Amino acid sequence: MSDLAHLRRDFPLLGRAVHGKPLVYLDSAASSQKPVQVIDAVAEFYATSYANVHRGAYTLSDEATTAYEGARAKAAAMVGAASPTEIVFTSGTTAAINTVAYGWGLDHLRAGDRIVLTVMEHHSNIVPWQLVAGRTGAELAYLRVGADHQVDLTDLEEVIDERTRIVAVSAMSNVTGTMPPVTQLAAAAHAVGAVVVVDAAQAVPHLPVDVATLGADFLAWSGHKMLGPTGIGCLWGRADRLEEMSPLQGGGEMISDVGLYESRWAPVPHKFEAGTPPIAQAVGLGAAIDYLDKVGMDAVRRHETAITGYALDRLATIPDLTVHGPTDLAVRGGAVSFTLGDIHAHDIATILDEENGVAIRAGHHCAKPLMRHLGLTSAARASFYVYTTEDEIDQLVAGLHTARRIFGLS
Ligand code: PMP
Repeated sequence: MSDLAHLRRDFPLLGRAVHGKPLVYLDSAASSQKPVQVIDAVAEFYATSYANVHRGAYTLSDEATTAYEGARAKAAAMVGAASPTEIVFTSGTTAAINTVAYGWGLDHLRAGDRIVLTVMEHHSNIVPWQLVAGRTGAELAYLRVGADHQVDLTDLEEVIDERTRIVAVSAMSNVTGTMPPVTQLAAAAHAVGAVVVVDAAQAVPHLPVDVATLGADFLAWSGHKMLGPTGIGCLWGRADRLEEMSPLQGGGEMISDVGLYESRWAPVPHKFEAGTPPIAQAVGLGAAIDYLDKVGMDAVRRHETAITGYALDRLATIPDLTVHGPTDLAVRGGAVSFTLGDIHAHDIATILDEENGVAIRAGHHCAKPLMRHLGLTSAARASFYVYTTEDEIDQLVAGLHTARRIFGLS
C-alpha cells in the first residue's frame, strides 16, 4: 500500500473519538473531511482579506477578487480547462447540472429530442433532466447496467440515436464505484451531434481528470467531496457551449448593462454567477486544490486503489456479505457498497458506529434506479479517501463480524 498515513495529521477531525472509540471515517463519498490547510485558508481570508468581489475600487476588494479568481484558475488547471473563464462557480454538482439542464436544455431541446442517461446515475443527474424533458417535450432514454456493474454498450447505437441532443453520464458511480467508459460514450454522443455532460462528483476528487481526454462538453463537481468547503462547486463548460447557454438566474454581477426593460449579460463565466458568490468557499476550494496538487492526483488514485483492493479482499472473507460493484480495480473507485445477509443497512451502520466508531453511509445513496436494478432497497457503503488506512478497514471488518454475531448469523 502507498503510504499517505502521515497526511492524517493534517485532518483535525480524524483525531476525535466516537462512543469512546477512535473515529473511523468511511463516508468520504458523501463528503470528505478537511485538512487544516483548508480550514486555515478560510479563517485567514476572513481575518485578513475579506470583502465583496468585483465591486469596490479599494485594496481589500481587489485582494478578495484576486483570491476568488485565483481559485477559478486552480480549478481550471485541475481539469485541464483551456482557460479559467471556462469555470463557473456553483454551489455544487447538483447546481452545476441544473445550470446546464435549464440553461442549455430549455433553449436547445425540442419535442422528440432525446436525453440519454445511464441507469447508474445519481438523482442529481436524473431529476433535472426529467424536469427539463417535461418542459420541452424531449424524451429520456437509458443505457442499461450489466451484471458486471458496468454500462451495457450492446445497444449503444440504438439508444444514442440521431434524435439524441444530450448524453449525461457519471464518471464514477457513488454506489458501485464503477467508472463507465466516458470517452467512448462521449465519442458516440458526438457522432450524432449530442452534447456530453459528465457528472464528475466522484471522479475529480479521486483521480486525474482531463476534460479533453474525456471528450466532455460540460463537467460538474463539488468542492466538499475534495477536501474543500461546502457551498462551492464547479461547472466546467467548453467555451463555445457556455457562450450558447442562457443564464439561469438574473441579478447583480451577471450583467454588462441593465435597462428598464432589458439587459445585456456580462461575459462568461460571470453571466452565470448572479449575486454575491461563495467567496470564502472558493478560497477554501483553492486551498484544497493546492493540497491535492501537492499530494499529486496520481498518488491519490494509487492510494485509493490499494485501499479499495485491501477492503475488497478483507470483505470477501466475511460470510453472507455481498459487494455490489466491479472487482476489477482498474475500472472502479473507492465507494464500496455491500449487503450482509438480510441485516438492514441502517442496523449495520448503527452497530458499526456504536461498537467500533466506524462511520458509513446506509440507504439508497440517491440512486434509486440503480438500487432497483440491483434488486435492493438499501445498502451499506464504505468509501475511502487520501486519509483512509488499512487499520480502518480492519475496524470495519471487525464491526461487520460483530453485526453478524448480534443478528445471529454466526
Ligand atoms: N453525483 C454524484 C455521483 C454524487 O456522488 C453526488 C453527491 N453524493 C452528487 C452528484 C451531488 O453532489 P452535491 O450534493 O454536492 O451537489
